[in-house]
Parts: sequence; structure tokens; C-alpha cells
Amino acid sequence: MTMRTTLIVALASATALPAMAEVNIYSYRQPELIEPLLNGFTEKTGIETNVAFLNQGLVERLQAEGERSPADIILTTDISRLAGAKEAGVTQAVESDVLEEHIPASLRDEEGHWFGVTTRGRIVYASKDRVPEGEITTYEDLADPKWEGRICTRSGTHVYTLGLVSALIEHNGEEAAKEWLEGVKLNLARAPQGNDRAQVRAIWAGECDIALGNTYYMGAMLADPEQEEWANSVRVEFPTFEDGSGTHVNISGVAMTANAPHPDDALAFMEYLASPEAQKLYADVVNEYPADPDVPPSDLVASWGEIEPDTTALDDIAEHRADALRLVEEVNFDG
Ligand code: FE
Repeated sequence: MTMRTTLIVALASATALPAMAEVNIYSYRQPELIEPLLNGFTEKTGIETNVAFLNQGLVERLQAEGERSPADIILTTDISRLAGAKEAGVTQAVESDVLEEHIPASLRDEEGHWFGVTTRGRIVYASKDRVPEGEITTYEDLADPKWEGRICTRSGTHVYTLGLVSALIEHNGEEAAKEWLEGVKLNLARAPQGNDRAQVRAIWAGECDIALGNTYYMGAMLADPEQEEWANSVRVEFPTFEDGSGTHVNISGVAMTANAPHPDDALAFMEYLASPEAQKLYADVVNEYPADPDVPPSDLVASWGEIEPDTTALDDIAEHRADALRLVEEVNFDG
């Protein structure tokens, strides 16, 4: 009798323990990038976080775990991964005034399945020595024969390239996007290879004059003693689209899982990410732009120039992903 009472009391108090408030996160983002954010969240709310860092297979894991999944939250980069997670059925719609107030409509799913937390521009790195200021204008212009033998880029099948090609399809139609890929291919100094930083290194080494890349790599290179020299050999240029739309951006984002065991705590986490405090903290650490336009970027990021982002809805752009990949393969972009 006594033992049974003790057990009931123990269970009752366990239910009331604040330790029950927790959020389980599956993250493609590196530990050092999100740690300040997790600490800030726990300090503010008392809710603990548990993180599983994954390199691949996040969606497959959620599908395999099904209703038994401990995960509440997905943290990842790139619209294609976020849209893919929604399509795979592993996310759920979230309604929140806080999220809608701070995150622009173009940077979140129409149905509330995912929300951008930071943005990064897909920009042009241009040789300070060989490309005069003002010469970089539009993405479309990169297909002009005047750039013959002067462009470096990573693979056409990489999600960063596919995002840009998807945007070109959205703005100009499929045929124009295909012609663009053919034109840029003719202008390449070498077959697509390596990551974004490898292209800047190639500019530094004199192999090409301009390269497509994401903005935050400038910060990463400047922080690396070996790569600092590469970074200092280039300027960040912000191309726009010929139809007047601004620079192509992509996001790092957050989604709540379909079977989140702690939906209230998970929502609190998502709303924290959208708060000006967290927006600033996170964007500064990753050298990206806060998704909330009212929160300024870090001084370092601002020093690269002012970005005027394309405000076309990212979920409209993401719809062209499959077509973008097909075009890249049709023109044998990497060949
Ligand atoms: Fe990257």
C-alpha cells in the first residue's frame, strides 16, 4: 500500500516536472551554428532542447519512425529540402501570429508547413582586378558571350544551382531557362566542379573572373587564414532578374514534424526563432540575412553591399525543382 502510494506520488510529480518541457530537433545544420540559439531558447523559456545532427536521410528517418518519432522540429537549409519534407508528409501545418508577423510571406510555406529563419543570396563573386564595377547586372546577362571562358560554378545538379534555375523558370519560362543554361555553359572556364569556395579560389588563381556563390561563404572565407586571400580577391555583386525582380535568395528554415510529441514546446521554439533577438543572434553566427526585414544584418554582412531580395514566393519557385533538374541534364551542363 505504501509502496503504491509512493509510486503514484512519484509519477504525479514527474508529470509536473519542468524537465518534461522539451523540444527534440533533427538538424542538418552544424552544432556550432545553432548552439547559441538553443542556449538562448532554453534561457528564455526553460524548455530543454535535444538535437540529433544528421548529414543525410532526415526525411527517410522520419518516415521510418512514423508515429514513434521523437522529433518535433526539423532544421535545415534550402527550399528544396523544406518543400521536399512537406511533400513527403513528414511536416505539419502551423498557425502562429508571431511567425506570420515576423517572417515575410515569400519566405514561408503558404500552408504553414515551413518557415524561413535566415536568407542567403545567390550572388556573383567578381574579380576585383578583372571585372570593373557595374559590369555585373542581371542573371540573364551571365549567358552573354562577353563572358566566354570567364565563369566558374559548382555542379548544375546542386540544390543551389537548381534553386536559381527554378527561379529563372518562374521569371522567364522554361525555354528561356534552358537557353540560359546553354549560354552559361558556353561561357564556363572549366567544367562545373567543387563547392562555392572552390570557385572563389579559382578566381584568385586567375582561372576565371566571376563565379556564382552564396553570400555567407564570404564570411566563412574571411574567417579562415588560408581562404582570406581568396575572399579579398573578389567583390560580392548582387545580380537581379531582367523582369526587375531582385537578387535570388534561398533560406535556412524550420518545420514542425507531422508527429511532434511536444507541439506546444515546438511552436514556442519556432516563435523564438522568429523573434528579433534570435533572428539577430542566428544571422550573425551564420553570416546570413535575418528573415525578418526589420532586423538588420551584421556589420560584416552589410559591408558586402546592400541586397534587394527577389520577393517571389519561394514555394512558387520550388515547384519548378524537377523541371530545373531536367533542363540541367538536357543541356548536359556538367559535361
Ligand atoms: Fe552552403
